[in-house]
Amino acid sequence: MNLSQLANPRILDQPIYEPGKPIEEVARQYGIEIDQVCKLASNENPWGPSVAARSAAKETLEKLHLYPDGSAHQLINRLAQLHSLQENQFVLGNGSNEVIELLGHVFLEPGDEVVCGEFAFVVYKLVALLMGAKPVEVQMSGLTHNLDKMREAITDKTKLVFLPSPNNPTGTANSEVEIFEFVRSLPEHVIFCFDEAYAEYLEQPPDLRPLITEGRKVICLRTFSKIHGLAALRIGYGYGSKEMISLLQQARQPFNVNAVAQAAALGALSDNSWVSQCRKRNRDGLEQLTQGLDSLGVEYIPSHANFILSKPGDGRSLFLELQKQGIITRALGQSLADYLRISVGTEEENIRLLTALEKALSVYGASL
Ligand SMILES: *Cc1c(COP(=O)(O)O)cnc(C)c1O
Repeated sequence: MNLSQLANPRILDQPIYEPGKPIEEVARQYGIEIDQVCKLASNENPWGPSVAARSAAKETLEKLHLYPDGSAHQLINRLAQLHSLQENQFVLGNGSNEVIELLGHVFLEPGDEVVCGEFAFVVYKLVALLMGAKPVEVQMSGLTHNLDKMREAITDKTKLVFLPSPNNPTGTANSEVEIFEFVRSLPEHVIFCFDEAYAEYLEQPPDLRPLITEGRKVICLRTFSKIHGLAALRIGYGYGSKEMISLLQQARQPFNVNAVAQAAALGALSDNSWVSQCRKRNRDGLEQLTQGLDSLGVEYIPSHANFILSKPGDGRSLFLELQKQGIITRALGQSLADYLRISVGTEEENIRLLTALEKALSVYGASL
């Protein structure tokens, strides 16, 4: 009997998440200096975390022999203040990805259905499959989540519905009004997960707290990986009703969020002006990229986030051609084969990307 015969059969079929290529790997592969490679592939903040977040992280390096505060008291206290909610309405995760997994552990059983958009963030589908649940992928309209169609996809077996807004990889968003209407239309046995990974890039993100207060089964997710610039540390959180959070806490491993991450996140929350500055710089960067794409004659989906989904033709070939020039972007699955996702970089990085893309397009010009 070999090991895979002993494995849970679901694991053998489990698709694997393909992350953005690391800088080191591209440098090695193409013989480029590490500091010459620029990564515009994972929607990280190109300006990094605030000074406050960095120095809080550094201080913690003196105490690495100690376990973190498993209840993350200070951080949760601060989050409760910021969101005007109770401390027992928050759960932290090793990235908000872990909170998505916790949702799976707590709520999903084989046979359950998980409703999400066809081009939604792929982790919802992966977690559904891992738990033996069935992902139901709903057609989107113009690469935007179609909430009417999602409502129609709900059955007696639906347990969870995921909505990321702005969505990754499309950069499209849904309005607060339509989200409220959708959530209020959901039957009692359905849990609504609102993924707010890019909320801070919106001038006025939807606020779902009234839905939580009126007893709707809603869980909202936030991350420190995007505008807060702490992707390396893996920290995110969920907020919802006390009942929702205590169930998720039940499935959480002790010390799932490390001490450096907790300290850095607390630091990040202390500097709101850094967040506004990054939001503004991102807006300028998007403007720079869209103008550049316009002049190259490349189509794109208008973005509400810190990346843009462009449609230059053969995404995979262009991804490879750009990589040769030291720029990492993200090609997408077969259904989005014509697209290339580009994260907003610094002004210099955006110029480099546009110049490299022009060159790559001329190489592939004949075949596009
Ligand atoms: C990046 C991202 C996340 C957050 O991931 P972390 O695990 O917190 O790094 C969650 N949802 C979406 C839609 C994302 O793009």
